[in-house]
Amino acid sequence: MELSWKTKGIVLTAPLNEEVDDVIKLIDEYLAPRGFNMIVMQVRYRYQFRRHPEVWGYDPLSMENVKRLVAVCRKNNIKLVPKMNLIGHQSGFPNEPTDGILHGHNEVLPDICDGLLRAYPDFDEQRGTKEILYSRSICLSSRAAKTVVCELIDELMDVFEADMIHIGCDEVFNAGLCPECSKKSRGELISSWINSINEHIKRRGGVTLMWGDRLLSTKDTGYNRWEASDDGSSIAIDMLSKDIIICDWHYDKYERYESIDRFAKAGFNIMISPWRDQENLEAFLNYAIQHDTGHINGVLMTTWCGSGDLAKRLLYGEKGRWLHTDQIANTIDKTFALQT
Ligand SMILES: [Zn+2]
Repeated sequence: MELSWKTKGIVLTAPLNEEVDDVIKLIDEYLAPRGFNMIVMQVRYRYQFRRHPEVWGYDPLSMENVKRLVAVCRKNNIKLVPKMNLIGHQSGFPNEPTDGILHGHNEVLPDICDGLLRAYPDFDEQRGTKEILYSRSICLSSRAAKTVVCELIDELMDVFEADMIHIGCDEVFNAGLCPECSKKSRGELISSWINSINEHIKRRGGVTLMWGDRLLSTKDTGYNRWEASDDGSSIAIDMLSKDIIICDWHYDKYERYESIDRFAKAGFNIMISPWRDQENLEAFLNYAIQHDTGHINGVLMTTWCGSGDLAKRLLYGEKGRWLHTDQIANTIDKTFALQT
């Protein structure tokens, strides 16, 4: 497709340490020649944080490996943006074969807490619940949780030498439940927490990116309950700081992508984030091209398979190990042509 927006980005999961070489090659020999100029790296807690080693996730990236990724991006003029999952997605299920990814989609035991809640069970909005949850949430009234989160943000932005960070905040289903959090409306609760994190990022000269689904209502937009919210949090769209860049993700096919117009009206700059299905991707991108009021910064392709797996598929033609790797690779290949 002919995409004239200035930013061409892709979300890659932080590679396993043993697959960093493959991902460096992917960046250097595949993504850069196709004009990608932004990589959002889904780190979560998979970095060897020095100040908070207690939150380390599975096979955390070493500082040395992060610096190698920083170097290959700098060489190719690619902006490297670390990504955390904040508020929701604090638990999930390990992917098989293990590639360090937590997925929230299988209703099987056990519900594994990611680094932050494993180290600090008190930060869990539903502490003590044994029930399987799609994705646990950080308690947004906990001052201690916010302090640790800000320290993790600082360390990630420092090691990635980044002036942007993606803070996630998608698919929040379990926030606002404890006695303290339930004093506020969902919209107020979420927007005040995100605004204070954004202030922290701005004080250090950074820009915040986040997913947009909690700012949309299923009723007003026709999106499903993952792509939009049905618990009233969507009023946050009018309360959030407008200097946050919203990543508007949709994986299903719709006649209208209402969110693109809503974010324009609310005064946000956005990125368009499709996924693996070629037809759905084209419908979304075409709608975006037609409805761009100058508020669309570019495209941010999502992947959600292991980046090492994706690299081996795209570079060496190996069959993907993960369920959707082959389809994701084909869609990327078709959509992002080599630059001449
Ligand atoms: Zn709470």
